[in-house]
Amino acid sequence: MSTLAIRDLHVSVETKEGPKPILRGVDLTLESGQTHAIMGPNGSGKSTLASALAGHPKYRVTSGTVTLDGEDVLAMSVDERARAGLFLAMQYPVEVPGVSVANFLRTAKTAIDGEAPKLRTWGKEVKEAMGNLRIDTAFSERSVNEGFSGGEKKRHEILQMELFKPQIAILDETDSGLDVDALRIVSEGVNRAKENTDVGVLLITHYTRILRYIKPDFVHVFVDGRIAEEGGPELADRLEEEGYDKYVGKAAPAA
Ligand code: ADP
Ligand code: MG
Ligand code: MG
Repeated sequence: MSTLAIRDLHVSVETKEGPKPILRGVDLTLESGQTHAIMGPNGSGKSTLASALAGHPKYRVTSGTVTLDGEDVLAMSVDERARAGLFLAMQYPVEVPGVSVANFLRTAKTAIDGEAPKLRTWGKEVKEAMGNLRIDTAFSERSVNEGFSGGEKKRHEILQMELFKPQIAILDETDSGLDVDALRIVSEGVNRAKENTDVGVLLITHYTRILRYIKPDFVHVFVDGRIAEEGGPELADRLEEEGYDKYVGKAAPAA
């Protein structure tokens, strides 16, 4: 049982013109077993939230706190965040030429758990997870992210989540660029992880369609760097009909 607590988080992004404030006081509590959807228009700061949680150096927390079971996440290195049980798909966005998917998965799993996975079961586990995600076995031998299609990147992301077994997973636009079949396969992977490991999921998305496959317990509407509205799954249905217009410009002014 884990709790990720985000309190009054303010984040600026480094630009050529200097720091630009993006997040203006975000409050969110996410527990194991829960699924929270963050929805909002483009440019509202959703990815900035994910990047700040991932510890991306370009995104600077100017005030507020983030804790995982009381531990200060913001004081942790990117590796320490992963070992603490946070899964941030954007942690490894770069191409890693010469490092195969199979090698990467085993190395990362070893770093996260603090010990190498058991040889006998690990190979089987990887194979099974890949099969479930309809990933071809030849994929194991490819270099990480090198020439991956959008869909392959997303499947690789969910493959990692299934194998690393984090406490809390933050998935940014996992649905973007997927056709209906790929969206269903990827969503099934998320749902499997939820059933098997009780992972808490922060699902960041612009569109409601993924929420037909992954049922959120809570929905947060993100506008202008803040949460403008919160509710249960019914809020996603309302957004589908009404769009984001009524929330834009209505977020409370920055404190
Ligand atoms: P979303 O994910 O909701 O579409 P983002 O977090 O990507 O929104 O962006 C929020 C705002 O921050 C946008 O105005 C965007 O232009 C700006 N921004 C984000 N990252 C950068 C960056 N690296 N450099 C400059 N501006 C950025
Ligand atoms: Mg965007
Ligand atoms: Mg984004």
